[in-house]
Amino acid sequence: MSAIHRDDLTADETTRENARINLRLALEAYPLWVERVTCPDLKRSFLANCSAAVPYYRNLFNGTVQDLDRFPVIDRADHDDRRLEFISTAFEDPRSEFLRISTNGTFGRSLRVAWDLPSLFDLNHASYLRLSTVLPNLFSSLVRGEPSAFVISDSPRDLRTSVVMPALDGAILRRLTLGRDEATDAALVEHLRRARIALLHGKPSALLNLVELDSLHDGGGRIAPANVVCSGENLYADNRARIEAWFGCPVVDAYTASEAGLIAYECQHRGGMHVVTDHLTVEVAVSDESLSPTGTGQLLITNALNWRHAFVRYRIGDRATVTSGECGCGHDGQTIVAMPGRERATYWDGSTSITAEEINTVIEATDPPVKQYQVAPGEDHQIVISWVGEPGGDTARTSTALAAALRERFPGSRFGLSNVPAINLPGGKLRRFL
Ligand SMILES: [Zn+2]
Repeated sequence: MSAIHRDDLTADETTRENARINLRLALEAYPLWVERVTCPDLKRSFLANCSAAVPYYRNLFNGTVQDLDRFPVIDRADHDDRRLEFISTAFEDPRSEFLRISTNGTFGRSLRVAWDLPSLFDLNHASYLRLSTVLPNLFSSLVRGEPSAFVISDSPRDLRTSVVMPALDGAILRRLTLGRDEATDAALVEHLRRARIALLHGKPSALLNLVELDSLHDGGGRIAPANVVCSGENLYADNRARIEAWFGCPVVDAYTASEAGLIAYECQHRGGMHVVTDHLTVEVAVSDESLSPTGTGQLLITNALNWRHAFVRYRIGDRATVTSGECGCGHDGQTIVAMPGRERATYWDGSTSITAEEINTVIEATDPPVKQYQVAPGEDHQIVISWVGEPGGDTARTSTALAAALRERFPGSRFGLSNVPAINLPGGKLRRFL
């Protein structure tokens, strides 16, 4: 049975049976989730479970270990090569196809993450409950039984689907997909202009696409969300300003990963992203040998909520700066204050080093403006900048202005400029500095 309506380009593409299974799983998971998040010694219990039921750790320790310091750092490659060794043998569920989510795969092979019910509930439902604490009018804007929270995907193969959200007072969360074709995009903009949107969530690049479609689409009105949350990519200051200006509401930046769910998110004070330390342990590899709760380096994540697929001291592949302390919002603990993620910090032009920030400053000030860009080291110390112009913009003038601004700011450095139709593949993660 299919729920696809050919005359409605925004209707669901998954079956009603699928929606029923997801709702049943959520209702079944909820009490188990409560039990797990209120477990008095969750982190140590989780590690004990790892050493007893996860083959990699069972073989390593040969006994119960509850002390995180004894666990080794695990690289992504270890999970790629020996995935099954990190999955608990104590877990069996015939519906496991509903309990698997793959990582994005933009930066390498995609990893299939297996979840148990409490951690899946946390990922799909409770993460919005956590975010609601920094979205003060979220619950007053949600409508029970109605689609009033929307996730925007720019991966054309993602199916449009609706999920009943028990944690959001029974409101419906709809995932809509951009970039299939013009007619579907236009129908989606119309649909969102008419909808009551308590929450709009997506990667910054997907939301920027939506802003552009909304600004170019006739028919009156504009998309008016009460709250906007970004995750899945770095949120650059200029892109944040564009999204906030168009939608007329502040953006909350969140750090999520398929391996760990919601890791950190901003509060109203915008002093960085507070780490969800109830069940996550974040460590920083400040040098090859030394791990620390604060500092700058590669992030290691331990997720005590997922007892099925163990991520312990897992090198997630992102660089960040972590601090610790109190915030005006009441948070007392770790905060991620800088999240360059997988971005390059500097470029070498053959005689001097240029920071990504310096290049960004020049490009941001270029007039006519550049919509999107990417910087990469080229042959013979050339610095290559691929850029996308504003829709309807004057490509030749933009190119001349950009070249002149770079020459003036960095005399002696060689830049290669390339006007391209798009920076990343549909559904991929946007990165500015390679
Ligand atoms: Zn705060």
